[in-house]
Amino acid sequence: SIVVTGATGHLGRLVIDGLLEKVPADRITAVVRDADKAAPLAARGVTLKVADYSRPETLSGAFAAGDKVLLISGSEVGQRVPQHQAVIDAAKAAGVALFAYTSVLGGPDADFTLADEHKVTERAIVESGLPYVLLRNGWYNENYTERLAPVLEHGAVVAAAGEGRVASAARADYAAAAVAVLTGEGHENTAYELSGDTAWSFAEYAAEIARQTGKDIAYRAVSADEVQTILTGAGLPGPLAAILADVDTAIERGLLAATPGDLSRLTGRPTTPIADSLAVTLKG
Ligand code: NDP
Repeated sequence: SIVVTGATGHLGRLVIDGLLEKVPADRITAVVRDADKAAPLAARGVTLKVADYSRPETLSGAFAAGDKVLLISGSEVGQRVPQHQAVIDAAKAAGVALFAYTSVLGGPDADFTLADEHKVTERAIVESGLPYVLLRNGWYNENYTERLAPVLEHGAVVAAAGEGRVASAARADYAAAAVAVLTGEGHENTAYELSGDTAWSFAEYAAEIARQTGKDIAYRAVSADEVQTILTGAGLPGPLAAILADVDTAIERGLLAATPGDLSRLTGRPTTPIADSLAVTLKG
């Protein structure tokens, strides 16, 4: 079977969509923590297994010998090292044939806080001895295009990224890369640096929003402290706001700007420009 964890998430749903175009539904297993949320997947003929990264005992039945597994990294920042370790241990015990993981662009070179858990997970995967694929995902276009309300309200894209650039791509592009790896051959023990074909600056992004909306939108480069204050003011917990402000400073230093082309090579098509993702959001 091809087994996808986090299958009810944004990326996971797109991976399942892509798999269903290439392999019969009865060869696809979705590992989910909420069976109700996964009802639409079951309705399409995908096998469901209910398991929680935080409860290792639930993971023991999730995998079988010979499976090709995609571990979609968890969303509970701070808890992910033991969570991912539990998934790796279960996959190892089952004897899966391939273990793919959605990591972070740059892998060991990603020096920002949000990357820490990915780097520990990468090492645990390699040390497990499982045949692995590291899908080192760059940023999603949607991280920006699905958070337009404050931008339109204030007429400003606010970030602590200076002149830094972001080689983002649509979630669907990263999903297509995962599908290519899970359904293709010869990817064992490889790390892919997945990112958009082109890197944009926040000033360019602001100009694109202005062009598509006809509104006055500018980039306001601020300090990391100011971003943190804005995010906590918007209701984010302090530690998470600090982690996101830290990402901005990493962007300023160029850490999310790499354009090696691995993503479009794996998918066989150009990556989705942020202007296209923006147009999708604006169309509603
Ligand atoms: P989502 O938050 O939409 O999906 C996360 C998935 O992980 C969900 O299906 C969620 O289950 C599942 N999950 C979380 N915790 C557990 C757990 N304890 N046990 C089992 N399943 C769990 O994120 P995306 O799909 O957009 O992105 C996938 C991952 O990529 C994120 O989890 C995060 O690690 C990372 N990410 C990357 C970004 C980037 O720009 N590259 C941006 C944001 C996140 P449920 O559906 O039940 O909530």
